[in-house]
Amino acid sequence: MTIRLRGHHLLCLLGYRGMGYSDDFCVNMTAIYEKLRSEPETDVEIIIGPDDVCKAYPPDKTNHCVGTVYGLDANVLAKLGLKAGERGSWQAICDRVAKTMVPEDISHLCLTCPWEKYGVCAEGVGLIVEGKPLPKVGA
Ligand code: SF4
Repeated sequence: MTIRLRGHHLLCLLGYRGMGYSDDFCVNMTAIYEKLRSEPETDVEIIIGPDDVCKAYPPDKTNHCVGTVYGLDANVLAKLGLKAGERGSWQAICDRVAKTMVPEDISHLCLTCPWEKYGVCAEGVGLIVEGKPLPKVGA
């Protein structure tokens, strides 16, 4: 099984703690998060544009999966030294985060994101940098 992820979702998944845009969105996000957390050898393909997280974005809300977030994807991939089209294990992506990032990078990269203020993404980066496991989410 390959999970397809766009650039900025590589970081969103580090800070996911059960919050999201709708119940359906969270069910899907929790499934992806827990798959990667419990099976870090899972194959991940980096793609451009809407991905396996976006597919559960509520259809009745203004679609934000296209447009300005492409810039955020590009900035995150540049920071991590990754490119769309590459694939590898989730563990390899976490190793890349540990090598290239510090928690404070989130406040620079994610200036426009409404979730940034909760601090969970910076905390998630911190856990990865310290070699600690991400917390379990869900029942
Ligand atoms: S601050 Fe927003 S865009 Fe940045 S990692 Fe967190 S949820 Fe994703």
